Amino acid sequence: MIYKEYGKTGKKVSAVGFGGMRFDISKSKEENAELLRYANAKGINYFDTAPYYCKDQSEDIFGIAFKNMPYEFYVSTKGTPKDFNTAKKAKEAVKKSLDRLGLPKIHFYHIWCLIKMEHYELAMKPGGQYEGLLECKEEGLIDHIVFSSHQPGLEIKHILEDGKMEGVLLGINILNFPYRWDGVMAAYKRGYGVAAMNPLFGGAIPNHEKELSFLASGGETPTEAALRFLISCPQISVVLNGFTTHKHIDMACRVADEALPFTDADLEKIRKKIGDNMNSACTGCGYCDNCPQNIPVPSYMQLYNEKQIFGSSDKEMKKKSYLWGITESHRARANECIECGQCEEACTQHLPIIERLKEIASWEKK
Ligand code: SF4
Ligand code: SF4
Repeated sequence: MIYKEYGKTGKKVSAVGFGGMRFDISKSKEENAELLRYANAKGINYFDTAPYYCKDQSEDIFGIAFKNMPYEFYVSTKGTPKDFNTAKKAKEAVKKSLDRLGLPKIHFYHIWCLIKMEHYELAMKPGGQYEGLLECKEEGLIDHIVFSSHQPGLEIKHILEDGKMEGVLLGINILNFPYRWDGVMAAYKRGYGVAAMNPLFGGAIPNHEKELSFLASGGETPTEAALRFLISCPQISVVLNGFTTHKHIDMACRVADEALPFTDADLEKIRKKIGDNMNSACTGCGYCDNCPQNIPVPSYMQLYNEKQIFGSSDKEMKKKSYLWGITESHRARANECIECGQCEEACTQHLPIIERLKEIASWEKK
């Protein structure tokens, strides 16, 4: 395992981090907790969770594991400025997370899911979330206040220049890096910690290994190449992996043991191949699953990725919309969109969801 400095915090974190958002919740909490201990025994020391992950079970699973972890570790959790819009609510949220994690302190607390500057401003308003977190820091309940962002590089730069944060969590991977690199460099150059989330593009990379074979070299798979890209990148402190099995942990740790960096020539080749499509692809984060019409927007937008990323024709897409079984679910269909805009407001990638649903509705028409 490689360990890297997380910015100026004085903490050395494992290049592979455990993202607690993809537990198999058909298993018991104890079984899932065992995965965390296994990862810790393999050298992983950065454990990231949040309220609501895995039907709100993730923090509890972490709490069970933390009762007897083999080695030292750091924990990260989160709270959104919208949910905790006063200092009092922010402090209560921290205390609730501490209680669930069974720890005296949270090492990295994220101001969670900044999609636009208004969200940051909300967190920083007098009497708002940041003030509550600062008080927690003074009381020794938090070590470092950091943020997670889905914003363009320039906005990330502005937030970092404000000097209140100690690191950032960003969605970056081998397919979208040309569009996210500004944010990484803005943090790295100023000496901040950078955590990467979504390293496998919401599962699109393992699901399309054949089409993405150009990513790999030396006998590795495209999935291993995608992990190697981030793990070996000096500008990135820790890469969060949503582990579900021991096999996933073994693979990420093996990649971290070998971790040969990509050369500039490799990256140039990838840049040319991926073109402009990836910047407008859905990452499968699920934040848009808030439709008053009960349309399964994240599933539809993942379906649209087939056209966006891999260039499937309208004829192929017509077949796929049925194959995916989205329309067989008991939820509403694409043509029932009333264009209220709630999903677009929530979209971390700023995607034109309403326009895409119109296209999908035309594929769904018999
Ligand atoms: S714009 Fe359409 S899909 Fe989006 S939330 Fe509103 S009704 Fe649902
Ligand atoms: S459409 Fe946007 S918010 Fe919804 S899952 Fe995709 S990236 Fe996330």
